[in-house]
Amino acid sequence: MSDSDGGPKQVDNPTYHSENHTATQTCGWTKNALRGEGKCYKYIFYGIESHRCIQMTPVVKCNERCVFCWRDHQGHAYELGDVEWDDPEAVADASVELQTKLLSGFGGNDKVPRERFEEAMEPRHVAISLDGEPTLYPYLPELIEEFHDRDITTFLVSNGTNPEVLAECDPTQLYVSVDAPDRGTFDSTVKAVEDDAWDSLIETLDVLAAKDETRTVIRTTLTKGHNMHHPEWYAAMCDRADADFVELKAYMHVGHSRGRLDRNSMPDHEEVLDFAREMREYLPAHDTLKEVEPSRVAMLARDEQTWVPKLEKSSEFWTRDSVVEY
Ligand code: SF4
Repeated sequence: MSDSDGGPKQVDNPTYHSENHTATQTCGWTKNALRGEGKCYKYIFYGIESHRCIQMTPVVKCNERCVFCWRDHQGHAYELGDVEWDDPEAVADASVELQTKLLSGFGGNDKVPRERFEEAMEPRHVAISLDGEPTLYPYLPELIEEFHDRDITTFLVSNGTNPEVLAECDPTQLYVSVDAPDRGTFDSTVKAVEDDAWDSLIETLDVLAAKDETRTVIRTTLTKGHNMHHPEWYAAMCDRADADFVELKAYMHVGHSRGRLDRNSMPDHEEVLDFAREMREYLPAHDTLKEVEPSRVAMLARDEQTWVPKLEKSSEFWTRDSVVEY
């Protein structure tokens, strides 16, 4: 979600398919899963069926300029101007329509069984993560509800700059990016547009801690020479947020980030794992360590069972149209 997974390219170019301010782009893992060539790490960790997942955003603008971001900061200009915002129903409609249109060509693909194609035509997950900062869309809590009403799970990824919006959002899983363990690193790595972004992030940690129903994830893009230090401070932030999961993922040298960083900024999988182990020392309750090497990602969790309960194959969620095991 939202960044390169180190596996298939998630976004081919910055020309998203869009309807007004709603943009989607077929994730590389969605295409892979359709062809039976593997699912993303969110399947392995949480049960997301990649071929039934929409990667979208209700707003492509962002209020940060992260050094590791694969997107073009030029195209992100924060000035929202006079946007005429679509209501949540229209955004959800556009997301599903764009996705099914983008995948329609797979119907004639020999590598894609008919049944799997038909499943993909009925998405059951949305990753609100393609680009931009989704909390800038004024009806985000309602949009999440709209997807849930359609029996679609929601994974929301935010940079944590709008704690009061996140307090109102109850997605299936709420990700907040913590890409610095201290203010100085935050300023040099994240380059937020607003001066109070660090304070807002800290406030967001308290918002996460207050969530009972929503599963919460702190995620960090580990970038060598920038933010890969002080695991104990990162751990303290995860502790303050009382996060259910901690995801540590290697920076990947793709897209526009290549103009800002060199290849050596990418940690290898072992380095990601080492960092996770160091953090685990300070998060004794999160003693489960999982990893997916091709995506260079590690996860710390409290329990071995990390799937979203409703995504278990025996769950009611799938009774409407059970997913065929591939
Ligand atoms: S969760 Fe969805 S958008 Fe994210 S990597 Fe998996 S299939 Fe792609």
